[in-house]
Amino acid sequence: MDKVVGIDLGTTNSCVCLYESGVAHVIPNAEGSRTTPSMVAFTPDGQRLVGNIAKRQAIANPQNTVFATKRLMGRKFKTPEVQRMQMTAPFKIASSDNGDAAVTVHGKRYSPPEIGAFVLRALKESAQEYTEATIKDAVVAVPAYFDDAQRQATRDAGRLAGLNVLRIINEPTAAALAYGIGAESSGTIAVYDLGGGTFDISILDFSGGVFQVKATHGDTFLGGEDIDARLMDTLIASFLSETNIDLRKDPVALQRLKDAAERAKIELSTVDETEISLPFLTADASGPKHLRRLLHRSELEALTQDLIIQTIAHCEEALTGAGVTIEQITDVLLVGGMTKMPLVQRTVAEFFGRQPNRSVNPDEAVAVGAAIQAAILSGDVGEVVLLDVNPLSLGIETAGGVMTKLIPRNVTVPVSVTEIFTTSEDYQPLVNIHVLQGERPLAADNTSLARFELVGIPPALRGVPKIEVTFSIDANGILSVDARDLGTKKEQSLRVRATSGLTEQAIERILSEAEQYQESDRLHVEMAELRRRLAGLIYTTERSLAESANYLTESELAQIRVDLEEGRRATESADMARMANALRELEKSAFRITEVMYKDLA
Ligand code: AMP
Repeated sequence: MDKVVGIDLGTTNSCVCLYESGVAHVIPNAEGSRTTPSMVAFTPDGQRLVGNIAKRQAIANPQNTVFATKRLMGRKFKTPEVQRMQMTAPFKIASSDNGDAAVTVHGKRYSPPEIGAFVLRALKESAQEYTEATIKDAVVAVPAYFDDAQRQATRDAGRLAGLNVLRIINEPTAAALAYGIGAESSGTIAVYDLGGGTFDISILDFSGGVFQVKATHGDTFLGGEDIDARLMDTLIASFLSETNIDLRKDPVALQRLKDAAERAKIELSTVDETEISLPFLTADASGPKHLRRLLHRSELEALTQDLIIQTIAHCEEALTGAGVTIEQITDVLLVGGMTKMPLVQRTVAEFFGRQPNRSVNPDEAVAVGAAIQAAILSGDVGEVVLLDVNPLSLGIETAGGVMTKLIPRNVTVPVSVTEIFTTSEDYQPLVNIHVLQGERPLAADNTSLARFELVGIPPALRGVPKIEVTFSIDANGILSVDARDLGTKKEQSLRVRATSGLTEQAIERILSEAEQYQESDRLHVEMAELRRRLAGLIYTTERSLAESANYLTESELAQIRVDLEEGRRATESADMARMANALRELEKSAFRITEVMYKDLA
């Protein structure tokens, strides 16, 4: 089999690795660096630059140098996260025709997968040079919380780069593989991954070479970029008060400041104090203006502590989701460049009550793990099995606007679940399958992933047709849905392409709303159930009335008609007490009909 590489397509930096004969080879790029900035620049003379050279010229060409586009992957332009990024990005973020976020450079629009593809292509070329072979296949890692649209976008990026993405692996799972955990031992580990743009915490069980992700949590908009932005805000504010010049209006100054802020942050991981010095940063009528400032590690920590603390709430959620206590955690792995920050290491150690494992370079762990997964797929490594979980429940909308879950959250993937549904109206020629993702009981409160129709159902009374619906999540976390009319064997299937990407904030919101609205949701579900029962009883009463009208007295007939009419009105109301009462009264009428129907048989 051809060589298969493992790729970490990071928000800030990317890394490619080949695992051969039990050794991980992190492949250096053309400049000799083991990681490559996920940056793409377009020069005025039409050249496209990727990686270190793109980063180096960013100061002189800020509007045409794009970075952190992983944050835009599979997202709509209008989402608050994209709007937020637009405020600080020196390049232009625009909406594509379908509403997806895109970037515009020199008047040309590029989708996030296209930008990702430029980076992937550069990594592929480095790998080809290193191995002196053609590289066609790759395993690409994505944040565990990436939803369907984001995974698809990543796969698209691979295709655009001429790479066949054999498998999409979750970053924390890859990290666990890189730390070499799982071969003989067993335990429960926490993978704390804080990178340039995203935070992920995952709890994994491993035993006898089998990994199982028990729960994942995180934030796709929390990372080193936010730490840098905090520091930049402070520098901009003090510069404004000293000089009355707003650096936000100057893209070149902004880019220099961003660079300096990141450099200072990185230096403060190893030294206590650093100097930020930006001569000739800008100028006004009075002459050139310089920025010079000493920054102590404690200042940076005070400025950014609340961001780091936010990660701990996610750790708590993940532990709860996995049903494990801190004491049951046997190892804590650090992944992502930001985990080199001493404040991060301290915060993690305090929360978990143990020193985290730092035996693997956190910048390379994900790529190394992806490469091990690649080796597993090509048969070079045999004894490790990977099991991931589905991060949010998946289901369909059923009668009364209720979400019926087929696959609950945190179920191990790959998984396939089949259930039989039926029609809710007589002679219904088609069924509308509305695929949903989320934790709330009512369909309208969850995210709509897709809709499709199963047509050509032969005329039948409601409840008679049998529609088999199968949800399958593959090893990449991508959902496909099949619906089959068991009568006609007619089948419809689709690979779900989400109409819009679910943001991490949206996932967070969905989960916290599910808790917050538990009581009102319960009432809504009860109401939907009551309405369904009442509508069902009206239906059967009407049918049996037509057959038994001759055996009923005028006054009985009148009463039944009154009860039916009140039943119909009650189903249209939002009044549960009225519905319950109408149901009780109609039941009496229904019993009366049954009595006369069976009277002669008694
Ligand atoms: P990643 O996405 O894992 O490549 O992480 C990149 C992030 O880690 C960027 O925000 C970097 O500025 C940050 N980073 C890299 N090295 C260090 C370091 N030594 N100390 C603090 N942050 C770092």
